[in-house]
Amino acid sequence: ESKDTRILNECRLVFPSLSPNEGYARACAAAFCAQLDPTATEISDIKCAVSEAVTNAIVHGYRDQIGEIIMTLRLLPDRTVRIEIRDKGCGIEDIDRAKTPLYTTDPAGERSGMGFTVMESFMDSLRVLSTPGKGTKITMTKKFTYIPRSRR
Ligand code: ATP
Ligand code: MG
Repeated sequence: ESKDTRILNECRLVFPSLSPNEGYARACAAAFCAQLDPTATEISDIKCAVSEAVTNAIVHGYRDQIGEIIMTLRLLPDRTVRIEIRDKGCGIEDIDRAKTPLYTTDPAGERSGMGFTVMESFMDSLRVLSTPGKGTKITMTKKFTYIPRSRR
C-alpha cells in the first residue's frame, strides 16, 4: 500500500535573513494553517517551531551576512502540514550533535541550545539536511486534529 503524497496546497515565502522577518514568516505559517481550522495550541506550536528554524537560519546559517531564506508550506492529505525552511548559509558539521538538547555554538552565551528540541516537541517529525558551506534544510510535519466547532 503506497502512501498518499498528493500536495493539496503549496505556498512559498522567500525573504532576506533580517530579524524582523522572523515574525513575518511565523505569521505566514500560522495563516497558511488557518485553512485547517486549527486549535489555539496547534497554532502556537507551529509558530514556535517556525520561529526556531528561521532564527537559526538568521543567526547561525548567515551569521553576519544577509542571505536568502526560503520557507515552503505544503498541505498534504490527512490534515498534515509540511514546512520546509532552507538557507544557503554555513551549514552544520555534525547534525546529531547540533540536535542534542543544550548544545549551542553561540559564543556569547545568549542562546540556550534548545531550538531543535523545541521543534521536535511541537511538531510530529523533524528532519535536518545540511551540507557544510552550502546550507541547511529543515523539514517538519504536523498533523492537525479535527475538532468540530460545536465540540470546542
Ligand atoms: P536556541 O535555539 O535555544 O536559542 P541554539 O540556536 O544554539 O540556541 P539550536 O536551535 O538547538 O540551539 O541549534 C543548535 C546548534 O545547531 C546551533 O548552536 C548551531 O551551531 C547549529 N545550527 C542550527 N541551525 C543552523 C543553521 N540553519 N545553520 C547553521 N548552523 C545551525
Ligand atoms: Mg536556535
